[in-house]
Amino acid sequence: MRVVVQNDKNWARCGRRFIGRGAAALACSALLSSCAGSPSLAPRPTPAQGPVHVLSPQDRQAAEHARLVAAARRWGLDRAPLTPPPPPRVKPEITARAGFEVGHQEDWDLPPVFTTIPTKRKIVFLTIDDGSEKDPKFLRMMQDLKIPYTAFLSNYLVKDDYGYFRRMQSYGHTLNNHTLTHPYLPGLSYEEQKDEICGMQDIMEKQFGRRPTVFRPPYGNYNQDTLRAAKACGIKYAPIWNEEVYVDHWEYREDDQRMRRGDIVLTHFRGRSDWNGTMVDDMRRFLNKVTREGYAVARLEDYL
Ligand SMILES: [Zn+2]
Repeated sequence: MRVVVQNDKNWARCGRRFIGRGAAALACSALLSSCAGSPSLAPRPTPAQGPVHVLSPQDRQAAEHARLVAAARRWGLDRAPLTPPPPPRVKPEITARAGFEVGHQEDWDLPPVFTTIPTKRKIVFLTIDDGSEKDPKFLRMMQDLKIPYTAFLSNYLVKDDYGYFRRMQSYGHTLNNHTLTHPYLPGLSYEEQKDEICGMQDIMEKQFGRRPTVFRPPYGNYNQDTLRAAKACGIKYAPIWNEEVYVDHWEYREDDQRMRRGDIVLTHFRGRSDWNGTMVDDMRRFLNKVTREGYAVARLEDYL
């Protein structure tokens, strides 16, 4: 059976221990952040107060833009992130990337592995893996800047603080399956792979209330058994990535070393114990680059 091997230089870091963080301050600051983020609304009048003053859509848009510019400045960005277009009315057809298929990909209707969403829109998708670093400032930053992202969680790294990820979910971000223990899946039997993927589905349902339909194999490594097992566990899509952002550099899958419309970008929940910076530093690098190149960050699930 063919083993598909992606270039993932991070495997050695994926098993690092991490230090849990208290979350008491987070609820408070997140609340403040979301309050600060609301555009001002006209007060509800009493009859004695005269006519109702409601902001026009243009005024509302201008107020939101001003808020975003201020938030970008606060987080040290070069400029405000671009706003993505509304979700497409018709979802694109997602198929396995050429060369990334397994045997019987089509006729067994196996979940496709892909790195880019077919779209003409100038957007990219942010995905964040594993779950070791649980930085409250990262949650606040993304909430403040209204940046959507998708998290792929591995249970052994998140189980000491499911609450952090529940908070993330409550802000509208999607949590997806990245196995129980982050193994090299092609080295396991079909049954062992199924235990890793279905076992994580059970955890996701118990802790976060839903069984994901999206799964990412650790290191981007998979074989036909992986996709068969994933399908048996209720998975419909197996996105990997076309670029990876680190706190101090980017890595591209394509030879021309460029971003493309619809690219899926990978980064990791990591902090100073893993690399020379914080999640906020990592996101600053990511957002500055995509904005400079004219891309907005869109929500992956809106296109699946
Ligand atoms: Zn991983």
